[in-house]
Amino acid sequence: MMRLSRVVPRSIAGKLYLLAALAVLVVSAFSAATVNYARNAERVVQRLESTAIRAAEINSELAMLLERHHRLISAANKTEIRQRYRSNIWDAGNVLANIADLTMFEEAALPPGFAGQFAQLKAQTDHVLRDVASGDRMRTSRALADYTQTANRLRDQMDAHRWKNLSTLRETIADLRNRAKTLIGSILVAALAAACVTGLVSYYLVEDIVARVKSISRAMRLLAGSNTDVRIPSLSDSDEIGEMARSVQIFKSNAVNLMGSKRQIEKLNGWLDIALNNMTRGLSMFDAGRRLVVCNSAYREIYALPPWLTEPGTPLAEILDFWCRREGLDLGLAGGGWHPCNRDDIGKDGHYSRLHTLPDGRMISVDYQQLRDGGWVDLHEDVTEERLAEARIEQLATTDAMTGLANRHRFMERLSAALSHSRDGDTFAVLWLDLDRFKDVNDGYGHPAGDVLLKLVAERLLSCVREVDQVARLGGDEFAILVSGKTVCEAAALTVAQRITALIEEPFAVIGHTVHIGVSIGIAMVPRHGATADDIIRNADIALYQAKSEGRGIPIVFQSEFEQKANARRRLEVDLKTAINEGQLELYYQPIISLASRDIVACEALMRWRHPDRGFISPAEFIPLAEETGLIRALGKFAIRHACRDASAWPGSLKVAINLSAAQFTSFDLVTDVLAALAETGLAPNRLEFEVTESLLLRDESKTHEILHKLRDMGVSIALDDFGTGYASLSYLTRFPFDKIKIDQTFVRDLPDRPDCVAIVRAVAALAANLGMTTVAEGIETERHLQLVEEAGCDLGQGYLFCRPVPNADFLAFIGRSAPVTSLAQAS
Ligand code: C2E
Ligand code: MG
Ligand code: MG
Repeated sequence: MMRLSRVVPRSIAGKLYLLAALAVLVVSAFSAATVNYARNAERVVQRLESTAIRAAEINSELAMLLERHHRLISAANKTEIRQRYRSNIWDAGNVLANIADLTMFEEAALPPGFAGQFAQLKAQTDHVLRDVASGDRMRTSRALADYTQTANRLRDQMDAHRWKNLSTLRETIADLRNRAKTLIGSILVAALAAACVTGLVSYYLVEDIVARVKSISRAMRLLAGSNTDVRIPSLSDSDEIGEMARSVQIFKSNAVNLMGSKRQIEKLNGWLDIALNNMTRGLSMFDAGRRLVVCNSAYREIYALPPWLTEPGTPLAEILDFWCRREGLDLGLAGGGWHPCNRDDIGKDGHYSRLHTLPDGRMISVDYQQLRDGGWVDLHEDVTEERLAEARIEQLATTDAMTGLANRHRFMERLSAALSHSRDGDTFAVLWLDLDRFKDVNDGYGHPAGDVLLKLVAERLLSCVREVDQVARLGGDEFAILVSGKTVCEAAALTVAQRITALIEEPFAVIGHTVHIGVSIGIAMVPRHGATADDIIRNADIALYQAKSEGRGIPIVFQSEFEQKANARRRLEVDLKTAINEGQLELYYQPIISLASRDIVACEALMRWRHPDRGFISPAEFIPLAEETGLIRALGKFAIRHACRDASAWPGSLKVAINLSAAQFTSFDLVTDVLAALAETGLAPNRLEFEVTESLLLRDESKTHEILHKLRDMGVSIALDDFGTGYASLSYLTRFPFDKIKIDQTFVRDLPDRPDCVAIVRAVAALAANLGMTTVAEGIETERHLQLVEEAGCDLGQGYLFCRPVPNADFLAFIGRSAPVTSLAQAS
């Protein structure tokens, strides 16, 4: 088998060639056999011709000659014949000569021993002729008998030889016939065998090829039907079918890849479709022939296009016609209304973005992108809401929501723009405004009242300026006005500011209350007071600060010395920080006297700052600064610790009163600090008192109240300081159960001259008594003051008349000497 498989070619062509070669071989074999047979037959015929037939001919001729000779010789003894004897003898001699010739030349065809017999016959012929010539009949008869005997023997031999030749010929012919039969049989058998073999091989080949080709064709059909699971047969075959199968396998792999790609593409298309139709932006794509390639549902919805107009291939012109007709627009004029009508733009290279407003008011943003092939893609977005929101945001970004005025940002923009557009000689003014006592209104009547007041102020401010001027609310109770115009001089700016001051000082009707506030105005002139917006507003702010510190109500134009003051203030701030760290602060104490017994019942701790260069700096100067900068918390902590420490060394139940600023109530650190100080010094909480101002209470913040109550719960007493200076209602006294009310020294100072002040002090003292609170009259400088506060019903007194604030050591020395309080006053 192995050998056969080596011999049999693997390829179909090889097999076919082998088959053909076999057929040729068989035919050649048959041809060779036939040719061989023909040659053999020819040779036999030649041989027959040259031997048997010739021999037969020769024998026949010889027999005939011998017969004739015999007759001639036999006639020699007869008388009638004797007349022709001579011619007979002649003839007989010729016959013998002919026989001799034949014997000589055709010896092979003669029977064996013929020549000897013939010679004997010849000799006997001579005997006969001699005897005849002798006339001896007896001898002639005997010679003739011998002659006849030899002649007969020769004839018998000749016959026997001829028969032998004929039989040889017959045998040869029979042999030839047999051979021919054998040849025909062989050829028939071989042809049959060849036919069977070639038929079988061909059948096998054809069946094999056809079967395999069929199964490959079936696989191809399945593949063509997108069935990629089909198994390709004959892959391992080494012939052409195997080649074909492998090619089909490659085709299958490609088909699988293609199917995969197709599925991927279909999936992608599906995703693309989902993406397109879930896009909030409308998308349309047109080809170079201005026909729709694709669009999404958002596009259809934005322009409310019917489905048949959004089929791929729809001409743009058709869409436009439909849309313009429906909207009642002239197609030619609709250009600005809808992007595709911007025919001039279509076909231009590149990209553009447009905002179109449709007839129904919707704003559509269109991004157009030219494609390389001449088509284009548009993205459409209904940005109506967005744009309205942007406008709203823009408005919010530039407008103060409360008053509707421009905000700080917008004001700065306007100021910068005014600066950049101003030409030589142009002047304008910036007014920086801060409402006075606004906080009291806000705190006193609540935020809604404050909001209403701010709106009313805004209205009044707008009424004071021209339309070209920019009024802005900067935040809180701060406003700014850009007084512009060709030229605005300082006097004009002051006039506007004074008009504003006068108008703001007019009472406001705020949700059922009549409210009085004021305004401080700082003015900076452009370009005199700054080249940049920042410089100008800084200087306007400095002027405002100056206006506030100069007593409010009077507009102040910026001067360079204000800047120096502001710088000095900044320096002071730095110095104050240093003061805290370097121990430049100390506490002075001023006694509070019982008016009934003249005993010292408490001492108020008052902060002093011994500046290394400037000497003593008044708390009226540095406390507000500390409050503004937040340093007050550190200062307060210092005051609490030191006052508690000092008081813990005082004799008896003498109380120490510590002032607290509102800024200290922003966190519970205050409570922690107090607890820590009490724990550290061992001072009994009932010997500690805190003085808070009206403004703290008027803030009406829950944290403030909580802190106050916590302090109160600790056993610390709370006094309401500077009562009467704020604008709080008396009803606020009920909001917290103060232990003391300290009537502000401004009332006490005016007591001798103003009966109304006497009435107020008396009323407050009575009210406090009813509420279970003690009253302290501050600022008692004279005996008259003392007399009047006593008469008004105050319980306690504090003032230079008794004692000025003194260092703790002096205070201790005084107590140690048990001297009357008046002498202490002299000492300080
Ligand atoms: P205040 O709490 O009302 O303190 C009373 C102020 O009146 C003190 O001024 C005191 O020296 C002054 N004074 C006392 N008797 C008389 C008098 O008969 N006539 C006149 N004209 N004045 C008198 P001082 O020490 O300059 O303090 C001013 C304000 O600074 C205090 O007013 C208080 O509000 C604040 N202050 C002082 N020390 C502190 C502190 O440690 N913390 C806080 N938060 N504020 C403080
Ligand atoms: Mg005080
Ligand atoms: Mg006071």
